[in-house]
Amino acid sequence: MSFTSMISSLRHSFKSGITKTAEWRRKQLMGMLKLIDENTEDIVGALKNDLSKSEFESFLFEIDITRNDIVNHLNNLTEWMRPTSVKKGLFFTLDTCQIKPEPLGVVLIIGPWNYPFHLMLMPLIGAVSAGNCVLLKPSELAPSTGDLINKLIPKYLDEECVKVALGGVEETTQILKERFDHIMYTGSPNVGKIVMAAAAKHLTPVTLELGGKNPVYVDKNCNIQTVANRLMWAKCANAGQTCIAPDYVMCTAEIQAPLVEAMKASVTKFYGEDVAKCDTYGRIINDRHFKRVRSLLKDQSPAFGGETDEEDKFIAPTVLTDVKKTDLIMEEEIFGPILPILPVENVDEVISYVNEREKPLAVYVFSNDKKVVERFLAETSSGGVCVNDCILHVALETLPFGGVGNSGMGNYHGKFSFDTFSHKKAVMWKSLGLESLNDLRYPPFTAKNLNWIRMLTKKSFKLI
Ligand code: NAD
Repeated sequence: MSFTSMISSLRHSFKSGITKTAEWRRKQLMGMLKLIDENTEDIVGALKNDLSKSEFESFLFEIDITRNDIVNHLNNLTEWMRPTSVKKGLFFTLDTCQIKPEPLGVVLIIGPWNYPFHLMLMPLIGAVSAGNCVLLKPSELAPSTGDLINKLIPKYLDEECVKVALGGVEETTQILKERFDHIMYTGSPNVGKIVMAAAAKHLTPVTLELGGKNPVYVDKNCNIQTVANRLMWAKCANAGQTCIAPDYVMCTAEIQAPLVEAMKASVTKFYGEDVAKCDTYGRIINDRHFKRVRSLLKDQSPAFGGETDEEDKFIAPTVLTDVKKTDLIMEEEIFGPILPILPVENVDEVISYVNEREKPLAVYVFSNDKKVVERFLAETSSGGVCVNDCILHVALETLPFGGVGNSGMGNYHGKFSFDTFSHKKAVMWKSLGLESLNDLRYPPFTAKNLNWIRMLTKKSFKLI
């Protein structure tokens, strides 16, 4: 089936109205739950094939987070679908005024390779719970997971309303020529611009979940071993190929040496003396990315790590010290297990550095000083902030997940996913009676009627 026929078939299904019912939405969510529960082993296997992902990380970062979001949607769907009444002034007292969420239509979801299951299914949860038809485009760079999604989606979800298109750049370019009612893209900012330009041709709204360099500040008053554990856990997850991984660390020179020692101890504790032999440590997705990440080590002398194995696409957890702001590694998102440390004079220097660059997806601050934390919250802008830890802020579905500026637009998770894929329709329902009251606004206009209308519609200040 060509992409054009796939999309026109989805549009036909949407027009039938079937996806608007609570029953259909519930059935798809239950189908997704079943898809996970009956195929957990295959999902773990596909992630192992694509990224050498450990079972532990597959459950934590791909399977359970997705499963929990499905359950959350099933628990709350009825309430979220309900129209909400809004406050109204004297002039509208007799009217029913509500916000009614309605599906957008046919939506396209384009996923990346780094969390290929989670980042394809999490947006899908919101799209179907909001009552849309969906075209999923998994990343061609995680083929085992893409193939599994392609095999399982038609088995567990309504084939007429949710379809999968496989392919790479050429196929995605073709798909993007088509008209959608919303596009959700997760991937790099550069391709995000291509997606947004294609969407603009049809005035299609987009949600862009992008990446960038996530800064970390480590203050002087912290327990250094705790900081090191949390930082290295987040940096080494999925071998550093995580959009919210800490990208670089800034701290004063006096902290750098003890921090590095503590980081080394964390890595040994997590993965043993020889990380290459540890089967819970991931690998780089492909040769191109392996070479890209390895090239960042050129002319650097790591404080520890630095070992690579091209055949195995292995790059050891690596920490670089005394890195300069002008070094190559400070230009692009690292997206690999290398962590540069930049010595700084003070917090002012860190905040200025962060603010001179693109807005990150996440900012991380380790400090026991509330004033320092408050400064980061007030003076920097990022998709999210996690204080005294990394990554975990995305695991709470009551917080929106998304970027700002170059790290993305829009957000999702939990209710935010339902909202992203819904149009909030304003509904005012008036009675055809009481026409005499409406006479006030009809010509011939009189000063008396104007006074009445102005009095009835006038806003007063809130009494505090
Ligand atoms: P990518 O942009 O290379 O690819 C993502 C998707 O876009 C794939 O499905 C691919 O087929 C498609 N694509 C690639 N090039 C295209 C083109 N020229 N035209 C049309 N489609 C194209 O991204 P990636 O390498 O898969 O992912 C890495 C990036 O994604 C990093 O920057 C990372 O930070 C970011 N990311 C962000 C999030 C988030 O939630 N914000 C999550 C994961 C990854």
